[in-house]
Amino acid sequence: MDDCASLTSPDILERAGRLRSYALCDSCLGRQFVQVAHGLENRRRGQCIREEMGTAPVDPGDCWLCEGLMGELEELADLVVEALEPYQYATFLVGSRVEEALELREGEVAAIGGDGEPIKREINREVGKRVEERTGKTVDFSRPDVTAIVNTQYNHVELDVRPLYIYGRYCKHVRGIPQTKWWCRKCRGVGCDYCGGEGKMYEESVEELVAAPVVEATGGSEESFHGAGREDIDVRMLGHGRPFVLEVKEPRRRFVDLESLEKAINRWAEGKVTVSRLRFADRAEIEHLKAARWTKTYRAVVSGCERGKLNEAVNALRGCYINQRTPSRVVHRRADKVRRRRVLDIHVEDTAGDTATLVIRAESGTYIKELVTGDGGRTAPSLQALTGCPLHMQNLDVIAIGDEDGQEIERNKEQDPSDT
Ligand SMILES: [Zn+2]
Ligand SMILES: [Zn+2]
Repeated sequence: MDDCASLTSPDILERAGRLRSYALCDSCLGRQFVQVAHGLENRRRGQCIREEMGTAPVDPGDCWLCEGLMGELEELADLVVEALEPYQYATFLVGSRVEEALELREGEVAAIGGDGEPIKREINREVGKRVEERTGKTVDFSRPDVTAIVNTQYNHVELDVRPLYIYGRYCKHVRGIPQTKWWCRKCRGVGCDYCGGEGKMYEESVEELVAAPVVEATGGSEESFHGAGREDIDVRMLGHGRPFVLEVKEPRRRFVDLESLEKAINRWAEGKVTVSRLRFADRAEIEHLKAARWTKTYRAVVSGCERGKLNEAVNALRGCYINQRTPSRVVHRRADKVRRRRVLDIHVEDTAGDTATLVIRAESGTYIKELVTGDGGRTAPSLQALTGCPLHMQNLDVIAIGDEDGQEIERNKEQDPSDT
């Protein structure tokens, strides 16, 4: 037959002759000649060569190399289809593990006359084709929704389900909620007297309020919350909110309607937290979120000073660089160093008696509480030092991250020298 033509050269038959003492099924024989006759299946390659040599066919069950494996492709495909059944996916990839003894036999054949592909590659391709036919889904080598690893020794399938990444912005409308789950510092989640058996320092967090409906909708096994920075527990996050990516591990349902998911979250969080602008993202976006340096705008209510002095200090501080040594409240867990940050804008929005509402826009990484109080001289200059008044921070809100409408994120491109 024509398709055999390129497989009957003396060179190939000589090589095949060296393998004659091994009983090889057509697939295992043909696999040794994969560089020849492109477009043919290995089984057909092997058949061509064998017929040319005039040897009898070997049933895969009697094959010295695969010991029946190449006759079990349909069953392996069944196993994969069954394992994938509970999951939503558009693309997949099949991988495989074979027993070590088979790989040793494969090496022996390769040393004598083979120049082929690994049997695993053939299994992956052939099982993949069959799964495509049965499910109507597509094999994707670069970024499959799910990878099925077939263990041919134990007829077991292991799945690697690509996590789902959902980007959004959150607002935190109440104080006293941390951004992420905060495990009990005594028992680290087990539950003890210190945490009242909860295992956590706080009953709820932005992470839990946002993730619960998402895990429910997607059937994920676990989640991980990645915020673009974080506000303190007693600080509200208002305006257009703070960007985040929620990572859902092993989602059973990945084609979720984000509009209704957004509503479900906002219902579930009862106004304490709201989310907006949900969209699908990928892992790279987490790195982007973490690396980006965004200016932030705060509203601070400060007491302890009369208006005239405060106005003067605010005018002096506008546009200034300040030096901030790591605040005393966090220095136990962060490196003690001095950071240089710019107060891009600051003005008094409102006053009542000795209490003033300030709006402050500052570079990424500025500690606002310390900018007000001076932190015992660790931040300089500060409002407290400039006014000479014992200032007290009543409360603080983040009102914008990036520019005013939060559409485009403003980033400080130049790296702060003190931060490297
Ligand atoms: Zn075989
Ligand atoms: Zn505890």
